[in-house]
Amino acid sequence: MAQEISDRRDMDFVLYEQLEVEKLIKHEKFAGFNRKTLDLILSEARNLAIKELLPINAAGDREGCRFENGVVKVPESFHRAFKLYREGEWIAMLDDPEVGGQGLPVTVALAIAEYFNGANCAFGMYPGLCHGAGKLIEVFGTQRQKQLFLKNMYTGKWGGSMLLTEPQAGSDVGALTTSAVRNPDGTFSITGNKIFITGGEQNLTENIIHPVLARIEGAPAGTRGISLFIVPKIWVNEDGSLGESNDVACTGIEEKLGIHGSATCSLTLGGKGKCRGLKPGWELAFRGFQWPAPPICMR
Ligand SMILES: Cc1cc2nc3c(=O)[nH]c(=O)nc-3n(C[C@H](O)[C@H](O)[C@H](O)COP(=O)(O)OP(=O)(O)OC[C@H]3O[C@@H](n4cnc5c(N)ncnc54)[C@H](O)[C@@H]3O)c2cc1C
Repeated sequence: MAQEISDRRDMDFVLYEQLEVEKLIKHEKFAGFNRKTLDLILSEARNLAIKELLPINAAGDREGCRFENGVVKVPESFHRAFKLYREGEWIAMLDDPEVGGQGLPVTVALAIAEYFNGANCAFGMYPGLCHGAGKLIEVFGTQRQKQLFLKNMYTGKWGGSMLLTEPQAGSDVGALTTSAVRNPDGTFSITGNKIFITGGEQNLTENIIHPVLARIEGAPAGTRGISLFIVPKIWVNEDGSLGESNDVACTGIEEKLGIHGSATCSLTLGGKGKCRGLKPGWELAFRGFQWPAPPICMR
């Protein structure tokens, strides 16, 4: 039978003997780590994978996600696992402590992700998307957007997703038709339909922050005319509190051959004309903005 959890000796060999991670952690960026702390962190991750994530893999797949009255319910057992994952602060394990991360080298974080995804890939999508969408805001968001969203995403209080695909736009993402119209207050009204959205709706987190690809009115056809927007499921007020529903409606979940515990959703944005999005700081890229060097943990 296939072995879901990597052998610890193999992991140690790759990290310490092949990739020489002990040399990497001599860099001042990783001053808080030594061989002993890394061993402890790897053991903790392995324990979580073996004791909590692996046992709910098959059961979660059998139970699957349910779509009831616009709400998606994930397998019941995923709630405890998500709570433990949050408490262990695994979501932002490789991010800078300045933004609430643990500051682990990405090499070590990838080894840990190997344990988690090996144990339960369907579960891993939820925290993975909290992190991915959060990273996007960390790198490209405005200062204000980072203040509003980042902490809650990196701690898993709020979920994340990525909304690219549409019924007529899969590989050919430039064919997307979701539109964005600028409002006087600087927000954008978003209208369109997205399909195959992993974690597009779920009942693990109180809010979901959707990065959405859409075309601003008058922008060129194809990929050149696509912009990115931050679209919360529930609007986030200026003081960080939750506001009203942002008109992001889940219309169903896909039946798949596997990973049934991961909700793959179809979403309608702006069905009632009330979906708003915020534009991150992308435009800086086109005004001669000097891109920062990637953090050392991402090199
Ligand atoms: C489980 C799952 C989760 C997903 N999660 C997300 C998500 O979170 N967010 C999101 O936005 N999307 C998501 N997707 C959608 C995914 O990104 C699309 O399925 C993907 O972009 C391919 O699009 P498509 O399915 O329309 O296939 P198509 O684009 O129609 O492709 C069908 C086939 O044609 C081939 N093909 C396409 N174009 C060409 C070409 N020019 N030349 C040669 N061959 C070609 C492809 O390789 C493929 O074999 C998910 C999909 C799945 C299955």
